[in-house]
Amino acid sequence: MTDKILVTRSSMPEIEEYIEEIKDIWDTHWLTNMGSKHKRLQKELEDFLGVEQVELFTNGHMALELCLQAMNLPKNSEVITTPFTFASTTHAIVRNGLEPVFCDINADNYTIDTSKIEELITDNTSAIMPVHVYGNICNIEEIERIAKKYGLKVIYDAAHAFHVSYKGQGIGSFGDVSCFSFHATKVFHCIEGGAACFKDKDFGIELYRLKNFGIRGPEIIDGVGANAKLNEFCAAMGLCNLRHIDEEIAKRKKVVERYHLHLTGIDGLQLNPVQADVTPNYAYYPVIFMEKAFGASRNEVFDALEAKNIGARKYFYPLTNSFDCFHGKYNPNLTPTALHISKRVLTLPLYSDLAMEDVDKICEIILECRK
Ligand SMILES: *Cc1c(COP(=O)(O)O)cnc(C)c1O
Repeated sequence: MTDKILVTRSSMPEIEEYIEEIKDIWDTHWLTNMGSKHKRLQKELEDFLGVEQVELFTNGHMALELCLQAMNLPKNSEVITTPFTFASTTHAIVRNGLEPVFCDINADNYTIDTSKIEELITDNTSAIMPVHVYGNICNIEEIERIAKKYGLKVIYDAAHAFHVSYKGQGIGSFGDVSCFSFHATKVFHCIEGGAACFKDKDFGIELYRLKNFGIRGPEIIDGVGANAKLNEFCAAMGLCNLRHIDEEIAKRKKVVERYHLHLTGIDGLQLNPVQADVTPNYAYYPVIFMEKAFGASRNEVFDALEAKNIGARKYFYPLTNSFDCFHGKYNPNLTPTALHISKRVLTLPLYSDLAMEDVDKICEIILECRK
């Protein structure tokens, strides 16, 4: 029996490269609290992502959660978002004492359906929190127009969209703030880590304070902050991985093209779109299975892969607006496209060193499911 193929496998630098990078930590004994690796990574990311300011965090979730807190939105105000996302997006809103209002998604790229945003806006709406799902980018111009018209803040969850650009501009430069995740499973990672990208200097000062216990100076603690600092070992992993990011994405592209070769033009399969003016990052390979036309359901394909030791992922399923923790508070039927997609989507294994023969095998198993 061959080893299990997981849906993802973290890329790592050569061990020698990482050891070289962490060596001087044994001279300085500076392990965390915004040390030299942290500072270097911050600067390198600002240049690499083409954004004005980067604040680093211990993970992507804390970036989202503390960005919302730093915005100081009115208590209990409403944040328009989508349910077709990872738990983190919705939880960041709820944990801030804000009210998520769920907007439906586009059927073709799974991002927020901007034609449905305005009907959800009330006097109590304070912000929009859209997600660049699978690295597909949202309708940025339309979101900007709506935000401007109604005076709303925009916080992008860009966790899937590292190194994606739109019309030549880094994806992190849109909205009031864009947040990335540097979790081990993402295209670029720091083991665990995250970042917020923004322009407003005062917002940056507030964010920094919130990630470091509300400490403004040695004897001045004037905010009730959390602890969300990125440590030096994680920053060092980021510095190494950033050197190889182009190679990482090029290898992912090859895997995606191999999948396309087998799955393009098959009845009943919807593949991820190619978006105009977007340089993609090949973060995920989602497939929507239309049972009637294809001849097998998403769950049947999932089980068939599982039986052959291949881990695909029902990502995103369930929708965040049907999570048990919300006790039926939200109605997933009000976001019918998201509900439809979440019942039919499977993301297939995708990582830079996934072998072409494995892609061939995975596709063969999928196509054999057809009745
Ligand atoms: C990974 C992810 C997050 C959270 O990032 P962490 O670094 O794991 O905390 C948030 N939103 C989305 C869409 C994600 O995929």
